[in-house]
Amino acid sequence: MSLQFASALRRIPVYPAGVGYARGGPLVRLESNESPYPPIPEVVAAASAVLTGVNRYPDPDSTVLREALSARYGVPAEQIAVGNGSCDILLAVGGALLEPGTEVVYAWPSFSVYPQLEAISGARAVVVPLDDDECHDLDAMAKAITPATRLVLICNPNNPTSTAIEFDAIARFMERVPDHVCVMLDEAYCEFNTLNDPDVSLKLLTYHQNLVLLRTFSKVYGLCGLRVGYALCASPELPRALKLIRQPFFLNAAAQAAATEALAHPDEVARRVDSAHVSRAELRVRLRALGLSPAPSQANFCWFDVGPQRDEASIVDGLAEQGVLVRAGSALGKEGALRVSCGTKEENARFIEVLTALL
Ligand SMILES: *Cc1c(COP(=O)(O)O)cnc(C)c1O
Repeated sequence: MSLQFASALRRIPVYPAGVGYARGGPLVRLESNESPYPPIPEVVAAASAVLTGVNRYPDPDSTVLREALSARYGVPAEQIAVGNGSCDILLAVGGALLEPGTEVVYAWPSFSVYPQLEAISGARAVVVPLDDDECHDLDAMAKAITPATRLVLICNPNNPTSTAIEFDAIARFMERVPDHVCVMLDEAYCEFNTLNDPDVSLKLLTYHQNLVLLRTFSKVYGLCGLRVGYALCASPELPRALKLIRQPFFLNAAAQAAATEALAHPDEVARRVDSAHVSRAELRVRLRALGLSPAPSQANFCWFDVGPQRDEASIVDGLAEQGVLVRAGSALGKEGALRVSCGTKEENARFIEVLTALL
């Protein structure tokens, strides 16, 4: 006998999981844009301290965390949604806004989770290619909006291409979007962006009721193993809708405690941003020295074409055989490219050493 699955399941693209979780030996993990640095002791202590109370369910409203986010960003707590990672919020937003007959607009290549939104909901995806500089083409995206559009996703800085768009361009784009269309700015990497102050986009929340800023504790805060994301919304409408469609108690107690504590250490965030900038500059210089042309990265990773005479898959496999894990562009929407996270000095050196040998 074989089970009868929902037709949506056949539409969901398979994103290859990071390899090496089961692999022994030392690894240089540069494949998931994680922080190379463990959480600070205060954060570990805060998460550990709640474990003795986990016979009780966590606060379903994540009140303390949402109040701390509210204090940090000056956005009322009722306009803040949290999630079991920001991917959880993304999928919930898809569930709350999309259905057959509606449309979602996003760029490509961009974040691998976006295609799941149309697959699950049955909405139509309007996919707008990145421009020649591998940046979002906001003019084309504005033109792609129709009366059926419910959601526009903009990943800034963009994963996997590492490029960012200027705040002014986003502000002008927002002027062109009709009020009924939700615009989600996915800012998972905004802290690493030097084009503008990372919090400049908060200004737009005052003017555009349809805007959502999606952020995460997974990258600069280094808490991806605990799964905490948050959405800063211009109105309480969306957080209310998300609450309706999600399972209760989606954010566990340790995650709530760790994220709240992490917010109390802005100096640590600044330190991590500084070291990511150093690592990024170093990687770019060393890639260029190999004759490669990394995109102008505003994130904690680099993106480059391997070159016309070279096979991406054999380079990725060759690196993995030496315990260096990176992402193949083919899995991210562009054949012949590689995405490599900015690691520690030692990790970068090992990556460059093995890459040099393979080229
Ligand atoms: C890593 C990443 C996220 C964060 O995902 P979490 O579920 O919060 O771990 C969101 N958006 C983009 C573009 C990312 O690269």
